[in-house]
Amino acid sequence: MSYDQSNIFARILRGDLPCKKIAEDQHTLAFEDINPQAPVHILVIPKGSYVDWSDFTCNASVVEQSAFVKMIGHVAGLAGITESGYRVISNSGNDGHQEVPHLHMHILGGGAIGPMVSRC
Ligand code: AMP
Repeated sequence: MSYDQSNIFARILRGDLPCKKIAEDQHTLAFEDINPQAPVHILVIPKGSYVDWSDFTCNASVVEQSAFVKMIGHVAGLAGITESGYRVISNSGNDGHQEVPHLHMHILGGGAIGPMVSRC
């Protein structure tokens, strides 16, 4: 799947759309989900143009991958959910129900968020 430069997160990264930024570094941006599914719902995205987890792990540099993983733990700490716990999810492709074709991790917490997923 080729990268669509017009997707919502690409537009946020270009500054064409606003976001409620939580943290940022050279390679990664974290911001609040616009339609939160839990008391804490943060999205972490790479600044590079990667469609999904497979694209990112195949094509991103080790530095980008490291920054991305570290940012997840960092923003969990900023949100105050390190001790209480949280879930990290990345939806990928059709079966994964990915809506925005730019890699993102959902960080969900701030309360008990229930069992993993319903069976298909
Ligand atoms: P996914 O189904 O994994 O692709 O999730 C996409 C997520 O992006 C959803 O949770 C949306 O609520 C969220 N979202 C869509 N547009 C925006 C936006 N402009 N700012 C923040 N989050 C957004």
